[in-house]
Amino acid sequence: QAKAAGRNNYQFFTERMNLAAARHFELESSLRGALAREEFALYFQPIMCTETRRPRALEVLLRWRRDGALVGPDEFIPILEESGMIMEVGEWVIRSACVQAMQWQREGLEVVPLAINLSARQFTHQGLVDSIRAIVDETGIAPGLVEFEITETALMQHGGQTLEILRQINAIGMCLSIDDFGTGYSSLAYLKRFPVRKIKIDRAFVRELEASTEDRAIVAAVMALANSLQLSVVAEGVETEGQYALLRSFGCQYAQGYLFARPLPAEQVASLLAG
Ligand code: C2E
Ligand code: MG
Ligand code: MG
Ligand code: MG
Repeated sequence: QAKAAGRNNYQFFTERMNLAAARHFELESSLRGALAREEFALYFQPIMCTETRRPRALEVLLRWRRDGALVGPDEFIPILEESGMIMEVGEWVIRSACVQAMQWQREGLEVVPLAINLSARQFTHQGLVDSIRAIVDETGIAPGLVEFEITETALMQHGGQTLEILRQINAIGMCLSIDDFGTGYSSLAYLKRFPVRKIKIDRAFVRELEASTEDRAIVAAVMALANSLQLSVVAEGVETEGQYALLRSFGCQYAQGYLFARPLPAEQVASLLAG
């Protein structure tokens, strides 16, 4: 009987594997033409200054409109990364974000810096720096209006050349932040060797801030260390007034989350910047 159950489990498992593989294959082939079909769009989520509760930056979040349905980045970014398509799509993201910022500027809006996510694959390539320089030339964007977010895990995986590329980006005048901080196994002391200005505390530590004394202790400790290293801190995934009040009491300078705004299409951001 145990054997039969084992067999069933195995069958169930392989069916699920086949389904996942089929889905993956299907997504990968339709992603190949997605740029040309103009199926990608940028959404923007404000990062608020906790003191003024006004947007201080906008995080740029990629969306894929596939047959009318919006596919989230957690499903398709890994496929772009594996297949190498992330290089081309990532460059499209940077260029489109800069074009959008210049558009807002022409409309007379007060533009705040855009925080653009970078995959590990992108910042191990010298080509990234060249394309950033080209985009700055083409669009005329002020480098101070562009920041990049790199996850802690991605930084940990890469060595020598990465540091050099990040330095070059920094030399162009663009800041770097560490995304999803606390989910990897690094230390702030280690990350300090990179030219980083800001860390984003992962929402895993914010979610139960009100209920969990451990999470409060972790956030307070990260804040203390970040302050002593002169790094600013952004809290991700802030959904309640209670979380917001606690973060303010810890001296956290920036906060991002559904409490303030969801990621929005460009048209809706305009009114937020104007308001
Ligand atoms: P991330 O960079 O950590 O972005 C924050 C994610 O948290 C976004 O998910 C955002 O919609 C979500 N979020 C914001 N506030 C809240 C909140 O209050 N509660 C909850 N539950 N979630 C919140 P999204 O847009 O699905 O993006 C997921 C990840 O995909 C991003 O995580 C980032 O790592 C990656 N990503 C998105 N756009 C790009 C891109 O253009 N390039 C690259 N390489 N990665 C991207
Ligand atoms: Mg991010
Ligand atoms: Mg994050
Ligand atoms: Mg994330």
